[in-house]
Amino acid sequence: MSKPIVAIVGRPNVGKSTLFNKLIGERRSIVEDTPGVTRDRIYAEAEWNDRRFILVDTGGIEPKSDETIPKQMRTQAEIAVATADVIVFMCDIRAGLLADDRDIAIMLKKSGKPIVVAVNKVDKVGELPYEFYEFYELGFEREPIALSSLHGTGSGDLLDAVIEECHFDENDTDDEGIINVAVIGKPNAGKSSIINRMCGEERVIVSDIAGTTRDAVDTRVENSHGIYNFIDTAGIRRHSKVEDRIEKFSVIRANMAVERADVCLLMIDAKDGVTEQDEKIAGIAHEAGKGCIIVINKWDAIEKENNTVNEYNKKIRTSLAYMPYAPIIYVSALTGQRCAHIYELINNVYAESRRRISTGMLNDLLNDAMNRVQPPSDKGKRLKIYYMTQTSVAPPTFVIFCNSEELFHFSYRRYLENCLRDTFGFEGTPIKLVIRQKGDDSTK
Ligand code: GDP
Ligand code: GDP
Repeated sequence: MSKPIVAIVGRPNVGKSTLFNKLIGERRSIVEDTPGVTRDRIYAEAEWNDRRFILVDTGGIEPKSDETIPKQMRTQAEIAVATADVIVFMCDIRAGLLADDRDIAIMLKKSGKPIVVAVNKVDKVGELPYEFYEFYELGFEREPIALSSLHGTGSGDLLDAVIEECHFDENDTDDEGIINVAVIGKPNAGKSSIINRMCGEERVIVSDIAGTTRDAVDTRVENSHGIYNFIDTAGIRRHSKVEDRIEKFSVIRANMAVERADVCLLMIDAKDGVTEQDEKIAGIAHEAGKGCIIVINKWDAIEKENNTVNEYNKKIRTSLAYMPYAPIIYVSALTGQRCAHIYELINNVYAESRRRISTGMLNDLLNDAMNRVQPPSDKGKRLKIYYMTQTSVAPPTFVIFCNSEELFHFSYRRYLENCLRDTFGFEGTPIKLVIRQKGDDSTK
């Protein structure tokens, strides 16, 4: 039902990000061009032998700050311990076993979670160098695994070990038909309240899933609208003092929940309007290519005049300009006003994010669009678009073949995206256009 979380922990520069990037491959940054969102992803889904799990690069959690390195490492280790099911503890054979490694090991051991020691930068294949055996001194149950993140060697052994330590829910297949809904937003926006309201007495808390020790609280609900699994990011806070200390964690929690979700409910406190933190959290959903509904909560607490909703809409569209596709709903978790409508929106956004359009229809649309607005040209060379096809869903992804990527300006891309939305809808879901250049470069 929910995927295990695997965190990579270790001193700076041991190669955590290198491994992370290698393992998640092309999944990095699904939706490009999010203005104002430049943060690299630190959570991503990975797969090994048909097993899927969520990989966390804890090194990416701390931006270059003035915090001391030991403090950063402690934070990382704490996050890993609090959220992960399995921890990959990465060391560096070139640096050897250092005092800092031993300190991290002590922190990790206290967690009782399964630990796999990865000794990185063993770049030469063949016999292991004697330095490798130092790492046995760390005293973990499992033998250390040698790898080179740079070359990719040894990562298979590492993943085998990781998968062995993960507990997979063997009933994974009954996931069909369940919509995973992440409720994201800053503290006190009303995330827990809305889940309580929407689930009412049907609420079933699924916390300790298939032997995992994760702190996240999932709530499964089955009603006349469908079957839903609500991922409550607020629930984690209540269970873990560690995370309370650092404000940034609301963003990290959101990140993790979003990765597991089909649809995100972005909860905004009507009294505060859209804050910078809200923008960041919304950006995570957008960047991950997930469907999103903007839920303005505490509407009961707002004094209304004739134009309040329109003005509010305008403000939201300006602040969250990169997600014009997301529907907005005004609710009160307190009084229950309009809360039931959220289910319809969820179903709709879920369906839209999985919609497939035939290649024939897409190319009719493309021809029509090009007739209405001619593709741009530069220095006598004109953009030619040959063909367009949908390659995947969630988010709907379209590949467009043309003669020149360079000529495919952002504005024309935006225009085509708008044509797609005008014709087919895709309400609530980001869509992705992938531009591919195809031979024939001499076209004038
Ligand atoms: P992080 O701080 O732990 O995330 O480390 P990075 O992934 O940023 O890597 C730190 C440095 O080590 C970079 O210069 C990498 O290119 C290098 N590096 C990572 N993995 C390997 C490896 O397997 N072999 C070698 N020789 N260098 C590596
Ligand atoms: P979370 O941190 O996002 O989970 O927020 P909570 O659900 O714990 O709610 C934070 C506070 O806002 C609580 O005191 C709630 O009673 C209050 N609250 C939540 N929803 C509403 C609402 O619709 N209207 C009003 N007036 N207060 C609300």
